[in-house]
Amino acid sequence: MSFTNRKDKKRLTETKITIMATFRLAAFQKLLERKPLDVTREADLTSDFYGKLVFGRSKMKKYLSKESYKAVCDAIDNGTTINRKVADGVATGMKAWALENGATHYTHWFQPLTDGTAEKHDAFIDHNELGGVVEGFSGKLLAQQEPDASSFPNGGLRQTFEARGYTAWDVSSPAFIVGTTLCIPTIFISYTGEALDYKAPLLKSLAAVDKAAVDVCQYFDKNVTKVQANLGWEQEYFLIDEALFQARPDLALTGRTLMGHSSSKDQQLDDHYFGSIPERVSKFMIDLENEAYKLGIPVKTRHNEVAPNQFELAPIYEECNLANDHNQLTMDLLNRVARHHGFRCLLHEKPFAGINGSGKHNNWSLSTNTGVVLYAPGKNPKGNMQFLTFVLNALMALYKHQDLLRASILTASNSHRLGANEAPPAIISAFLGTEVNKMLDLIEQNVSDKKMTPEEKTSLKLNIGRIPEILLDNTDRNRTSPFAFTGNRFEFRAVGSSANCASAMIALNTAVAKQLIEFKTEVDSLIAGGIKKDEAIFQVLKKYIEICKPIRFDGNGYSNEWVIEAEKRGLTNITSVPESLKGYLKNTSKELFIEMGIFDEKELEGRVEVEYEKFMKKIQIEARVLGDLALNHIVPTAVKYQTQLLENVKGLKEVFGDEFKTLAGNRLDIIREISEHVTFIKNKVNEMVEARKLANKIEDEVEKAFAYDKEVRPFLEEIRYHIDKLELIVDDELWPLPKYRELLFNR
Ligand code: ADP
Ligand code: MG
Repeated sequence: MSFTNRKDKKRLTETKITIMATFRLAAFQKLLERKPLDVTREADLTSDFYGKLVFGRSKMKKYLSKESYKAVCDAIDNGTTINRKVADGVATGMKAWALENGATHYTHWFQPLTDGTAEKHDAFIDHNELGGVVEGFSGKLLAQQEPDASSFPNGGLRQTFEARGYTAWDVSSPAFIVGTTLCIPTIFISYTGEALDYKAPLLKSLAAVDKAAVDVCQYFDKNVTKVQANLGWEQEYFLIDEALFQARPDLALTGRTLMGHSSSKDQQLDDHYFGSIPERVSKFMIDLENEAYKLGIPVKTRHNEVAPNQFELAPIYEECNLANDHNQLTMDLLNRVARHHGFRCLLHEKPFAGINGSGKHNNWSLSTNTGVVLYAPGKNPKGNMQFLTFVLNALMALYKHQDLLRASILTASNSHRLGANEAPPAIISAFLGTEVNKMLDLIEQNVSDKKMTPEEKTSLKLNIGRIPEILLDNTDRNRTSPFAFTGNRFEFRAVGSSANCASAMIALNTAVAKQLIEFKTEVDSLIAGGIKKDEAIFQVLKKYIEICKPIRFDGNGYSNEWVIEAEKRGLTNITSVPESLKGYLKNTSKELFIEMGIFDEKELEGRVEVEYEKFMKKIQIEARVLGDLALNHIVPTAVKYQTQLLENVKGLKEVFGDEFKTLAGNRLDIIREISEHVTFIKNKVNEMVEARKLANKIEDEVEKAFAYDKEVRPFLEEIRYHIDKLELIVDDELWPLPKYRELLFNR
C-alpha cells in the first residue's frame, strides 16, 4: 500500500490509533453482516426421523440374524456376554447398515478422563486378492481395539513400558453415525484392566445399585428383578458470536473471560429468562434438535436462562449410562452446530463474572422392571413404605458421603459457581419439601414408640397414602439446594455444565448401592430376631431419620445463616478444589469404592491424581493467558491512552501557559491513575510468574495443585480488578477486547 496524498496519510494515522482495537472492530463488522441461517428439519414429524442414525433395536432386528438379535438384547437387558460368533454377526449387520447410511469409517467412541470424548477413525477397508480393497469389519474389531491412546491422563496407571490402552464395546449403548463415521460406544481400560475412563466405573456402579436395589425391592414386590438408575440432565450453556469470541483470547483458550468490567445492564431485569428466543438462536436450536433426534437423543425442553445469552436444553430422562452418552454427544453437537450458525457455545461453568454461571442438573431416580419409579410416592401404604425406604437410603448415602459427592462435582471451573450466590453452596444438603418432611417427622415421632396401636400405625400409613395427591401439586421448589427432591426424583443441582455426568453418577449410585446393602442387613437381622418385616423396616427407617437429620435442609442455601447452621450440624463446607478432592481418598470413600468393586485403591488414587493435575493445569493456563493479555493487550493500550492524555496536557500548557492545570483538570488524575494500575498489573504479573515457577518445581501432583490454588490462583482476581478499572478509564476506541456488553447482547 502506498500513500500518496495527505488525505490518505491522515487515514493512516487514524488507522494506527485504532490498530489495537482492530480485532474488536472487525468482529463487529462481521456481526452486523450476520443473518440467521435457514434450517430445514429432516422431516415434518420428529417421529419420522428420530433415531435415524442409531443402530437401535429396530435396525438390529432388520440387519441381524434372529440369534444375534436375541443375544444382543439379552446382553443389553441382562448383562450376558456376547460370544465371538455373535459379535461377527453383529459386525456384519452393523457394517451393512452403516454403509447404507453413508459411513466410510468406524471408531470406538470413548470417554477418557479429559473434558470430552475421544475417537480414532479407521476406514472400512481391507485388501482383496486383486490388489483392490473391500469394505471389511469384524466382530473382533467391533468388540475390542487397542487405540494406543497413550497420551490420555491416567494418573500413573499406565507406565510407559505398558502404555497400551484398550477399548471394549459397551453393548448397552447403541452404535450411531456422526458424519461419515460409525461410532461404537466403548469403555477404555489399561492393559492390566484398570479403568481409564468414565464409562467403565459408571457401568459398574449401575450394576451395583441395580443389585442392591432389587434386593431391597424384594421386601415390597417379589416381581422386581431389575432396577435401573435414570438420569435426566438439564444442560445450560452460553452462545457468543463467533467473531467476538475470536477476539477474546481468554475465552478461546480458557473457556471463560479472565477480565471484563460488568455491563451496566445484565440480568437485573430478568428480561432474558424464559423470554422469547432470539431468531438466530432459535434457528440454531432447531438445527441442534434435528441432529439430536437423528441420534436418538430425546431433547424436549429449550429456553432462555437467567443470564443474557444463556440458554438451556433438557431431554426426557433415560437409563443413566445411555443418558450420559447422550449428554456427551449433545455437548459435542452444541459445539459443532453453534459454529455453523456463527456462534460459539460456552460450556464453562462461569464464562462471565458477576452474572449467573451454567450448571447441569442431574435428575436422578431409580425405577423397576415392573414400571415403578422408586422415588415417586406410592399409591398405597405399601408403595409409600418403599418410597420412604429409598428416600431415606439416598439421604443416608448423601449424609455419609457428602465429601465424596462434593469431590465428584467440584472442579476448577465449577468452583466459580459453587458457593457464589447463584448456585448450590459447597455444603451438601438435601431439600425434601413440606410433604416428605411431614412424613418423616410423623414416623420419627411415632414409630419407635412401641405403644403405638395398630390403628395409629394404619393412620400413619394412610397419612402417607394421601401424599401423592398433594405432591402432584408440588410447587415446593428450592433453587438453592444442591440435592433437591422434586416429586419423583432427586435433582443433583451442583453438577457443573462442562462436567461428564458420570463423575457425579458414579459417586451417587455407588454410595446408594452400599447404603441399600447396609439397610437390608439391618432389616434382615431384625427379622431374624423375630420382628415382623414391616415393623423391622419402620424401625430402621426411624433410626435413619434421626441419624441423617443434619443433611436435611429446606431453607435458603445461599444465606449466611445456613453456613453457620451447617457448621453446627457438623456438615462440611469446602470451596477449595484440592481440599475437596481429598474427599475421594477418605477412608469411607476408599472402602466404599473397593467394597462395591468400582475402583481398587490404585485406580482410585490414579484417578484422583488426574483430577489434581487437571485442576493445576487449568489454573496454570489461566495464569499464563492472563499474564500475556495483561502485558500484550492491556498495558500497551493503557499506556497509549495515557500518552494521548499527556499530549493533550502538553498542548494545553503550550497554548495556555500556567492556566493549563485548571484546564487539564481531572485528566492529570487519570494519567496518575493509569500509571498506578499499570504498575500494579506489571508487578503482580511478575509476582504471579514467580509463584508459578516455584509451584512448577514441586514434583508431587497434589502438593503442586495446592500451591497453584493458594499461591497462583489469587493473582487472577487481583490482576483482573485493575484491568477492569482500566477498561472503565481508557478510550473505548482503543480498547482491544470486546466488552461484556458486546459479548452478552449480540446474538
Ligand atoms: P426443571 O427445570 O423444572 O427442573 P426440566 O423439565 O428442565 O425441569 O428438566 C427435568 C429433567 O428431569 C428432565 O430431563 C426430565 O425428563 C427429568 N426427569 C423427570 N422425571 C424424572 C425421574 N423420575 N428420574 C429422572 N429424571 C427425571
Ligand atoms: Mg430446567
